[in-house]
Amino acid sequence: MHDLEDIDTIGVVGAGTMGSGIAQVAATNGYDVVMRDVETEYVENGFDTIDDSLDRFVSKEKLSESAAEATLDRITGTTALDDLADCDVVVEAAVENMDVKQDIFADLDAVVPDDVVLATNTSTLSITTIASATDREDEVVGLHFMNPVPVMKGVEVVVGEKTTDEVVAFAHDLAEDLGKETWESDDKPGFVTNRILMPWINEGIRAYDEGVASKEDIDTGMKLGTNVPMGPLELADHIGLDICLDASRTLHEELGDRYKPAYLLKRKVDAGDLGKKTGEGFYTY
Ligand code: NAD
Repeated sequence: MHDLEDIDTIGVVGAGTMGSGIAQVAATNGYDVVMRDVETEYVENGFDTIDDSLDRFVSKEKLSESAAEATLDRITGTTALDDLADCDVVVEAAVENMDVKQDIFADLDAVVPDDVVLATNTSTLSITTIASATDREDEVVGLHFMNPVPVMKGVEVVVGEKTTDEVVAFAHDLAEDLGKETWESDDKPGFVTNRILMPWINEGIRAYDEGVASKEDIDTGMKLGTNVPMGPLELADHIGLDICLDASRTLHEELGDRYKPAYLLKRKVDAGDLGKKTGEGFYTY
């Protein structure tokens, strides 16, 4: 049984953009956190990121000074894998590389008690393949936080081939306890978010490269034209271009050419289901 009431300490692997954010949110919500990276310098960078983020929350009066201090006090930084041994759940947020993630999960499997859920924050890699490096494939789940973690409300729960319903329910509960709202995706390349987001970003990049418009006009056009808070180039910068490239490569390898009009789109138009104006599209109005 995995119950939130049994969770005191959350392990976070990786103290980069996402790991530091996850550590911060977990600590702000009262959990003790062990944040591990491979070098002391990276752990320190993680703490700097958390410090800056907490300062912004305090200056906007969204968090008291004492709550910010308590958040920091709850986080222990380390480079030692063994320090994760007493964690009640671990969230991995290291680099987006299957070999690295499988090595991490094999290591975690060896040091963390076998009833502890291991979650990964991967953007695109298969939960099932990551889980196969462990002897607890049923207890591995995707917890895909959005960037910046302390600000973004959503968490995508990704269900691996062997993940049990109970672990999926636990993943939703944990994310909700961290103040997030969740949705669920099957373990298919890119899940819901990146499967749809990455082609959008790549098309924005191509439009810029092919001289369709200036980068500012592409971003402004998509913001004003489609009511999103950031255009594709701005968002790509925000996510990290390396992360975008890794994600795009995985999707390309797994899904091939995604740029032809979708068959279902053509079929719906032929059927006269044009959306809101006809009362029938992908939804019924
Ligand atoms: P990042 O490069 O900022 O941080 C990754 C950190 O992992 C680095 O500090 C690195 O030293 C550390 N690391 C590498 N190997 C490690 C190991 N064996 N043990 C512990 N730490 C290790 O990357 P990020 O943007 O934080 O992304 C982390 C994960 O989150 C990736 O899987 C990425 O796809 C996913 N993600 C990223 C975003 C985003 O917008 N950046 C959004 C959602 C999910």
